[in-house]
Amino acid sequence: MGNWHQSLVVRRVSDEELGKVADVAINYLIERKIIHAKQGDNVLRGDIGYGPGQNWAFVVEYPEENHFLRSLTNGMEICKGRTVFYADGREFESISCPSCNANNLECDWGELFSQWLSDPNSANLKCIKCGISNSISDYEFEPKWALSNLGFVFWNWPMFKKSFIDELEKVIGKTIILVEGKL
Ligand SMILES: [Zn+2]
Repeated sequence: MGNWHQSLVVRRVSDEELGKVADVAINYLIERKIIHAKQGDNVLRGDIGYGPGQNWAFVVEYPEENHFLRSLTNGMEICKGRTVFYADGREFESISCPSCNANNLECDWGELFSQWLSDPNSANLKCIKCGISNSISDYEFEPKWALSNLGFVFWNWPMFKKSFIDELEKVIGKTIILVEGKL
C-alpha cells in the first residue's frame, strides 16, 4: 500500500511573497481547525507536518473515509522552494500550451524540468503550433503535475471538496492546482 497525496500547489508565487502567502494559508487552515496547530512526525518527505484538526471532515467529499486518522502519515507538509509536484508513474497524455492549448507532448520535458529547477528563467518552451515561448511551469499537464515554489501536501486525506480549494484560492489570492498521486 502506497501513500496517497493531494498537493495544493500555488501558482505564480515570487520568492519575495513566498513566506507571506504560506503564512496566510497556514493561519487560515489552523483558525478553521482544518489542521492542528501543533506539528508532529506525520509526513513522508519532510520531518514534521500539521495533523488533521477537529474540522477536517468539512473540507472532504467523503468524511466517512476517516481511517486516515489512524495512519501515522496523515499530516500536511509545506514545500517551499522550487519543486516539481508529480502525480505518479503514469505517462503524460498532454502538455498544453498556455497560449493556444496545443499539445506539446513531444517536447523534452525532463530536460526542461531540470532547467527550471536550476534557473526558472531559462526553462522556456516554444509552442509547436503558435510559436509563443512560455515557461514550462505555465504549461498544463495531464495527468496534473505542477512546477511551483509553494505547495501544501496532504498525506492520505480523503478527496477534497472543490469548494475548499476555491475558498483557499480566495484567501491567498492565488490560483491553486490540485496534484494527486501515490508515493
Ligand atoms: Zn501555443
